[in-house]
Amino acid sequence: MINTITSSQQAMALEDRHGAHNYHPLPVVLTRGEGVFVWDVEGKRYYDFLSAYSAVNQGHCHPRIVSALQQQAEILTLTSRAFYNDLLGTYEKYITEYFQFDKVLPMNTGAEAVETAIKLCRKWAYEKKAVTPEQAKIIVCDQNFHGRTTTIISFSGDPDARDNFGPYTPGFIKIPYNDLEALEEALEDGDVGGFLVEPIQGEAGVNVPDEGYLSAAAALCAKHQVLLLADEVQTGIARTGKLLACDYEQVKPDILILGKALSGGTYPVSAVLADDHIMEVMRPGQHGSTFGGNPMAAKVAMAALDVVKDENLTANAAHLGEIFRERMENLVSQSDLITNVRGKGLLNALLINDSPESDTAWKICLAMRDNGLLAKPTHGNIIRFAPPLVMTEEQLGDCCSIIEQTIFNFNQ
Ligand code: PLP
Repeated sequence: MINTITSSQQAMALEDRHGAHNYHPLPVVLTRGEGVFVWDVEGKRYYDFLSAYSAVNQGHCHPRIVSALQQQAEILTLTSRAFYNDLLGTYEKYITEYFQFDKVLPMNTGAEAVETAIKLCRKWAYEKKAVTPEQAKIIVCDQNFHGRTTTIISFSGDPDARDNFGPYTPGFIKIPYNDLEALEEALEDGDVGGFLVEPIQGEAGVNVPDEGYLSAAAALCAKHQVLLLADEVQTGIARTGKLLACDYEQVKPDILILGKALSGGTYPVSAVLADDHIMEVMRPGQHGSTFGGNPMAAKVAMAALDVVKDENLTANAAHLGEIFRERMENLVSQSDLITNVRGKGLLNALLINDSPESDTAWKICLAMRDNGLLAKPTHGNIIRFAPPLVMTEEQLGDCCSIIEQTIFNFNQ
């Protein structure tokens, strides 16, 4: 089947007619990407300031990652785990050394990795902590986002994500984010096996907790023999200016959940990492996935992680993040349209001075699109800014100018 799309309107009409309406995309139809840039069907170039929700940290179509993908596609793509393949062990050694855990359990998408972590935590709770049979609980936070499976949306607070998808999976205790007292209280329940948390809540609008929150939470979990499950699907792999956002507080989670940028934006790869005393509860036949750990994924993930290291993307994200927030803080002081900028590294958000129900942030994103920069509102009045980490300082300066001009010239 040949792609006959010649205009953005045509592409959007096709999606509208034949695809489920479970997304509300910004009206722009992309056909090509390279580094920090994407191009639409009409040939207009944009800075990508979302990076597929941080999956494209290494930039679009990174030559090393694409080459790994192409090479492996001609050799061996999928064996299932019914047999060994000659890349999985190499990858497992590589990623466990990279993140300093004993073992990895490979999966494909972020939500699958979160599901895996929940199952691993529950099993550990029964077999190692001896919690009451069928009563294991996991503490989660208000405004969490961990994916879209039935179990995960069971503890979502977002009505769109949750309503009319019940009956829901029990066994989750919800507490406010960034609230150590609430955590300590919830940990009193002896059937708690884990605390599942995003080190920064990306989807909720880049909620950055107080300094010391994660390390104190980790200490509380250790005191109560409860596993700390860090969902770094969005924050991990250099995005926040450290390899992991947990690194800001020298926290090593008991279970680390990775996805998105593990693929360099090319192919779904996710992973759950833990040390032996936890991972050993998983035995043959108890968990798996046809595609998890396939040779393509292994090759791509190693290339994606190599690029992060070889191109110093962590340091670049930290450096550019400082510049970005300084420019945006200046903007906040000059414009009534925005009230705050927050974030770490290159995961940032601007808070728009309007209600979450208003369409102001959406209209600002449309205006930024017209000016050559793509970003998307989250939760109505917040705009997330997460460009590829391969951005140069000059390009970032250019992007800041686009954002500033858009805000200064914005008329409702
Ligand atoms: N966890 C976090 C923190 C995320 O931000 C996301 C996706 O945005 C997920 C999990 C789910 O990942 P996926 O969409 O690959 O299932």
